[in-house]
Amino acid sequence: MVSERGETVLQVNQSDSFRIIDAHAHSDVKFSWQHTPEQLLSMMRESGIEQSVITSYWDLPSRHDPHAVQRFEDALKAHREFIGFLRLNPNDRDAETLLANIATGKLIHGLKLNPMTTAVPPWSENSLKLVAASSELGLPVLFHTGDDPISTPLQVERVAKVCPEASIILGHMGGFFYVDEAIRVAKRNRNVSLETSVMPYPRMIQKAVESIGSERIFFGSDAPGVHSAIEIQKVVASGLSKDDQRNVFSDSFQELIRST
Ligand SMILES: [Zn+2]
Repeated sequence: MVSERGETVLQVNQSDSFRIIDAHAHSDVKFSWQHTPEQLLSMMRESGIEQSVITSYWDLPSRHDPHAVQRFEDALKAHREFIGFLRLNPNDRDAETLLANIATGKLIHGLKLNPMTTAVPPWSENSLKLVAASSELGLPVLFHTGDDPISTPLQVERVAKVCPEASIILGHMGGFFYVDEAIRVAKRNRNVSLETSVMPYPRMIQKAVESIGSERIFFGSDAPGVHSAIEIQKVVASGLSKDDQRNVFSDSFQELIRST
């Protein structure tokens, strides 16, 4: 298959394809990453993805790029294929106000926190404040997890315990080295879900489904930096049943954000 940009891309198997929602993608410009809405939309079409969660690359509100918030809002207003998760820097004093303002406009369906890029521990007071505010608004919180000491699944488990009413998603389901830990954390805490992007082991998706069921596991790709067709193939290669595939590719996430 040849893409709109003339590149050869993976052919997603259409014969057993399901509706696909991508629970982890990006639309933003930062340093050398020029990931415009159009670029993500083009990749979504190539991969057969109906809707994608987008977050910015900047932890908002960014002092480094004063246009970052506007860019995020514009992308959401212009494209109904996008589902907004607001990425915040918990140590920015305007973070909570921005969350309240954007949530009031019904523009977002979740919060994204990245302890690694913000250097703010998941269980720090400012981070917990945002998690509590989100759960009061009925919004789930997607945490970047994996591979660095500040964002392991065990660190995020402290948040799930302190805020049992919050719905917490472990992004990358622990990354490279903490996948077993992510599955154990999700098994111990009913308010924790797993998101599959970039985690490199198809068999661990099968293991996660055996451990916690497919209702709390969401397909994610980290597109367009990562090609979403590869991430789809990874889930297909994990050998899930048709029902579990349907849950992971769309139904479970759809259910999560149904009321947001
Ligand atoms: Zn990402």
